[in-house]
This record gives sequence, C-alpha cells and structure tokens, in this order.
Amino acid sequence: MIQNHPIRAAFSESYFSNTSTPSMRKLTLVARRAAEAGFVELVEPQPVGRAELDQIHDPAYVHSILSGEGPLSKCAFGYWSEDYRDGVLAINGGNLLAARLALEDGIAANVAQGFHHAAPPNGGGYCTFNGLALVASCHPDIEVFVLDCDEHGGDGTAEFTKTLPNLFNFSICGTGMAAFEGPQSIVRRVPPRDEKQAHQYMQEALDLIGERRPGLVIYQAGMDPHLDDPLSRSKMSGEFLAARDEFVMKTLLIELGIPFFFVLAGGYQEPMEKKLVPLHVQTFEIASRINHQRRK
Ligand SMILES: [Zn+2]
Repeated sequence: MIQNHPIRAAFSESYFSNTSTPSMRKLTLVARRAAEAGFVELVEPQPVGRAELDQIHDPAYVHSILSGEGPLSKCAFGYWSEDYRDGVLAINGGNLLAARLALEDGIAANVAQGFHHAAPPNGGGYCTFNGLALVASCHPDIEVFVLDCDEHGGDGTAEFTKTLPNLFNFSICGTGMAAFEGPQSIVRRVPPRDEKQAHQYMQEALDLIGERRPGLVIYQAGMDPHLDDPLSRSKMSGEFLAARDEFVMKTLLIELGIPFFFVLAGGYQEPMEKKLVPLHVQTFEIASRINHQRRK
C-alpha cells in the first residue's frame, strides 16, 4: 500500500480570479482535491505588503496594480479587477509563507504560481509580480535557487538575477521566451519529445544544486510541457512529468536535504477539470509520498 504524509501548502480562497486562461481559475480546484485526498494541509497566507513589492518592482508599476490606475498595458492580463489584484497579492504572500514552511519542514508548496515572466518594470505572460524574486529579496542571507521546469523560460526571473545577488535561475524549457544566460542564469532548451535530453538537463540542474548547496530551492513544476497542452512545444508525456517531479523532490528532500517548495506554474488544458487539474494534483501526491518515505 502506498502511504502519504501531507505536506504544508500555502493557499487562500482569495487566490481565485476568473482569468481567461486556467492560470488563476484552476487553483481552488487543485487545492480542494489535494486536501481532500490527504496530500496537503492548507495554510492561509497574509497578502504581500506594498513595501516588499517596492523592493523588487518599479514603485509606479506597483501603484498602478494596487490602485487600478495607470497603463493597463503593463498588467499581465491587459485588464484589471479587484479580485485579480487581491488574488495576485494573496498568491505572493503565499510564496513568502511557502518559503517559511519549507525552511521549517524541508518541503512545502504554494498552490499557485511563481509568476516567472514578471520583470522589474512590468508584468507579462499572465505574471504580475515575480514571486520568485520576491522570496530572494526577503531572504537576502541565503541563496534562492529557482529550478524552473515550466514550458516557457523564466525571462523575468533572469532579469532579476542582475540585481539580486542571492538569486540563481535554471530554466529547462521548450520555449525560451526571452530568458537569457548570465552569471546567475542558465537556460536549457528541450527539443520536441526528447525526454532523454530533458532528463539529462534535470540531472545537470540537480548536480549544480548539490554543488552550490543553496539555502532554498523553488521548483516550478509546470504542466504546460504536457503533450496535450495548447502551449507545449516540448510535448512531454504525463509519465515523464510524474517521473520529473519524483526525481526532483526525492533528490532535494532525501539525497541532498536542501529545503524546497514547489509551485504549479503553467498548465492550460481545457476543460481544466479533466486533465490539467489531475496533472497538478499528481505533483502533490508525489510530494506527500516522498515526505512519507523521508519519515520512515
Ligand atoms: Zn508556461
């Protein structure tokens, strides 16, 4: 019999926003199903404060999102609503909470996004404020290593590595977007359907984590590389994505003992209830199983 031990995960009902893509619509369903199955214990975050956001983003941009005034072209979705703003603030509070839970428990999650396309002056690609850079900014004494396995490269996070000395970004993606390589940024492009190459890149990233021994890893467990996803170019199978999650989490938690939390990242299949939500819930199932193995 497979046994699970629930992990603690940040989640709030206010994460929900009726976005055009499943981006912020899928979160409530994933959290509910993962909690009902006993994979997670949900913990309510406080919304992130303005001062924390001003540390990493242009204060004028932060003001425009908080108030709904100013150029909407800078917003991630090209529109603004109160529930969208409140969701984004709660989710980023959730990233800070998940970091604290990870440092306490070794493993944790935020049932939401890292928002890796958001850059210092503006948002982009469904991402408003960069929650990965936010965690690095709020934990200046430790290295925060982002292992980004979304279908799209973390271009916003790569931008933030220029100004946050404790942030390291490793993107393994099918579509590079504008993610670039730099002293603290590595980008690996996976050719279509090449799961062997994708696995080798995972190994390379985990070897580097073993060498650098960061204080915290944030794993972007994207489900948009899935072969049925409308945005997928790399076309990875569901089996590969499950093996990927297991490989990452087992290595970090059991072999290396480096604290980490994961976020859902991308995933756009509709209707989301049928395939997309189960793919994300599977990540929580794997996490709770590995958490149980560690405790034996
Ligand atoms: Zn993506």
